Amino acid sequence: MITVTKPFFPPIEDYQQYIAKIWENQWLTNRGELVVELESKLKSYLGVNNVIAMTNGTLPLHIALSALTEGGEVITTPFSYVATTSSIVLENCTPVFVDINPEYLTIDESKIEAAITPKTTAILATHVYGNPCDVEAIAKIAEKYKLKVIYDAAHCFGVTYKGTSIFNYGDVSTCSFHATKLFHTGEGGALFCKDEALDKQMFFRHNFGHDGPLQFQGIGTNAKMSELQAAMGLSVLPYVKDIIEARKEICKAYDALLKVNTIKKLKIRAHTDWNYSYYPIIFSSEEQLLEVQKVLENNGIVPRRYFYPSLTTLSYVKNTNDVSVSDDISPRVLCLPLYYGLESVDVNKITELILSVVQ
Ligand SMILES: *Cc1c(COP(=O)(O)O)cnc(C)c1O
Repeated sequence: MITVTKPFFPPIEDYQQYIAKIWENQWLTNRGELVVELESKLKSYLGVNNVIAMTNGTLPLHIALSALTEGGEVITTPFSYVATTSSIVLENCTPVFVDINPEYLTIDESKIEAAITPKTTAILATHVYGNPCDVEAIAKIAEKYKLKVIYDAAHCFGVTYKGTSIFNYGDVSTCSFHATKLFHTGEGGALFCKDEALDKQMFFRHNFGHDGPLQFQGIGTNAKMSELQAAMGLSVLPYVKDIIEARKEICKAYDALLKVNTIKKLKIRAHTDWNYSYYPIIFSSEEQLLEVQKVLENNGIVPRRYFYPSLTTLSYVKNTNDVSVSDDISPRVLCLPLYYGLESVDVNKITELILSVVQ
């Protein structure tokens, strides 16, 4: 079976070396040597000043929202993973949905201002499939209306925009290191923040608010990454360049083989060094997508409808804004298998099956 993604497994010897260190140190969590080493290596690999490693990619969203808002309305995108919306609702904020750009699939910056009210406190937008939002336009709006900007950059490991890590834009960026993501720690994630004071505040928040063993700086939760997770991250990190390179080759092959008018591809924003994290294709109709999905699945190939359904359909949100672009695209988008080790014969087979339906 060929699935949409497959976790990268580093050589077991690499992992065992780090695990042996954990046994040597007799230390499993609470910011041990390996977590600190991973953070330090991530800083230099990504070119960021601060990183807080966390136990998944959802808690950094919660921590950023809790640190930057006190309720209120948060402008967000309907075209993302459910965690983007659920974290807003769980942090006692109200999601206000703004439609997406049909080419880039990121939040449509030209429609943000119309959604701002006196209750708006922040913008939480997703760099969808690793494709950056219009970070400059969003920064201007945020400055004009005194809003905080949080980027769900779960897909963005290794992405740079105008020569610097995409994690350097906005007040806070978050990333996921889930097993299915490009760089992973099994479960895991991180928070990135350039502002030292804010970074420190969120650091406290990720460790119960502890400021020393007996003191509390403020409220907090537990989002600490464990040594076992860091061991996986340290084992995977040296292969990230190879992983991205392999994905690039697969994307190039898909590009070349799927040149048909009935299939639309993702447009990557200019000045972006992309990470090839997903290969979404947009069909001309949902019927066509379902037909392709059936043909692929009959041949042991499992693509993923990602992102579908639109987040405005969640039972716990109310939406009154026009999100017709997202509603139109979401039922028609399919992510094709893309992972390190996917063979070119399989890429050929996948594209032949797709073309057998759409041509
Ligand atoms: C994966 C993902 C998350 C959640 O990350 P976890 O590490 O699974 O908690 C959040 N947002 C987006 C866009 C994602 O793809």
